Amino acid sequence: MKRSRVRRKLRENVEEHHHIREAVFERDDWTCQIARLTDTPCAFGLSVHHLKKASQGGKYEESNLTTACIYHNDYIEDHPAWAKANGLVR
Ligand SMILES: [Zn+2]
Repeated sequence: MKRSRVRRKLRENVEEHHHIREAVFERDDWTCQIARLTDTPCAFGLSVHHLKKASQGGKYEESNLTTACIYHNDYIEDHPAWAKANGLVR
């Protein structure tokens, strides 16, 4: 593939991801979905958490994503057993 085509493809992916991310935030009311499962406060800034990791074939699509603030996104990574018990890891 030519360099310019690779770049265009990359840009399309970024735009597509942005669109999906917005849809996930919208669905979740722009609210961290992890806070209610813990007694720890959110950090400012939202991100999306993959229920099934991208490295394990999890797709970047609404059904595989949930809204998590940047703190709770790390929290999930740091508490794998807890995350699994709460259905945050597939
Ligand atoms: Zn949070």
